Amino acid sequence: MEMTPSSEICSVKVALHIRPLIADERLQGCKDCVSVVPRLPQVQIGTHSFTFDHVYGNGGAEPSAMFEQCVAPLVDGLFQGYNATVLAYGQTGSGKTYTMGTGFKDGCHTGLIPQVMGALFNKIETLKHQTEFQLHVSFIEILREEVRDLLDSASESKSVVANGHAGKVAVPGKSPIQIREASNGVITLAGSTEVAVSTLQEMAACLEQGSLCRATGSTNMNNQSSRSHAIFTITLEQMRKLHSVSPVNDTPDEDMGEEYFCAKLHLVDLAGSERAKRTGTDGLRLKEGIHINKGLLALGNVISALGDEKKRKEGMHVPYRDSKLTRLLQDSLGGNSKTVMIACISPADINAEETLNTLKYANRARNIQNKLVANR
Ligand code: ADP
Ligand code: MG
Repeated sequence: MEMTPSSEICSVKVALHIRPLIADERLQGCKDCVSVVPRLPQVQIGTHSFTFDHVYGNGGAEPSAMFEQCVAPLVDGLFQGYNATVLAYGQTGSGKTYTMGTGFKDGCHTGLIPQVMGALFNKIETLKHQTEFQLHVSFIEILREEVRDLLDSASESKSVVANGHAGKVAVPGKSPIQIREASNGVITLAGSTEVAVSTLQEMAACLEQGSLCRATGSTNMNNQSSRSHAIFTITLEQMRKLHSVSPVNDTPDEDMGEEYFCAKLHLVDLAGSERAKRTGTDGLRLKEGIHINKGLLALGNVISALGDEKKRKEGMHVPYRDSKLTRLLQDSLGGNSKTVMIACISPADINAEETLNTLKYANRARNIQNKLVANR
């Protein structure tokens, strides 16, 4: 059997998710300022026009197709040993958490992550006779360049009542988590909780525990969840029994040993992309000083560096080390990963300026090319 890793170039896919106008925007009398070009993955805002790999919502494709088109191929790739990453990008309130499913609402989850879990366990079910699987989950948050563990059960727990349901919530752990790079370039998180899971219910419980922890871990919850990057990571290890197959009757005859695969899927709910806070406590527009999230700034610079073909050919430096987020996602951007960015936007005219920023940022990400090598 051929064991040399083959590599393959694969550009970052970018999908746009336009949420509907929400009640608050309707109350303010907002108008829809984003138009989708019929039958094309293209949008127009003012005089600007942008093309993506897919456009969902607001007259574009049905958002329900997003999982099958954008994420299911990544789940399939995991079984072949390909790393994968899904990034939700956009201003606060644009629907990142709704799209990913990293929020806790009415005791149940919707969004891409629960769908990933369903697809993952379905596939395992069909393959379990010839392959042994091991799954681990970690869930962390990067807030002000500090990595916090959202699954640290050893940390102090407190009872809370969420949406009328009493439950236990872990307070984010104090143990320092470090991002390390192995000699083969593989990035690992040292010190974060890795929960071994064997059922869909166990994995869903991790998502729920971490999401609750994220939502209630601070006194100023809105600020916190809009300024932090939440990263839910699934690690899939496989041990596949190899057989040589008889060319005559197609039945396995000789035991050829085992093949090992390991791949990671990062599901990332990024911090809000807006550059400044709009409102102060007294309703006046308070100048808070322009706050730019270090991770998003670095991510933008990494995207610029990778997206510029001329610079890429000259072998220019890519500033992965400028933030925890870009270090952790180093493999996902220009590296060994199938990556999808879901740019989330509001269609409301009051958000037009931020929406335009999101469209520009996400459009540049389409130029990134990843180099895939299966992790055998
Ligand atoms: P973000 O995480 O980007 O700050 P949220 O996911 O919290 O944004 O969404 C903001 C609000 O909009 C929430 O009330 C959410 O329920 C609603 N919302 C977001 N996306 C959709 C959608 N596709 N359909 C309906 N409501 C949505
Ligand atoms: Mg959110």
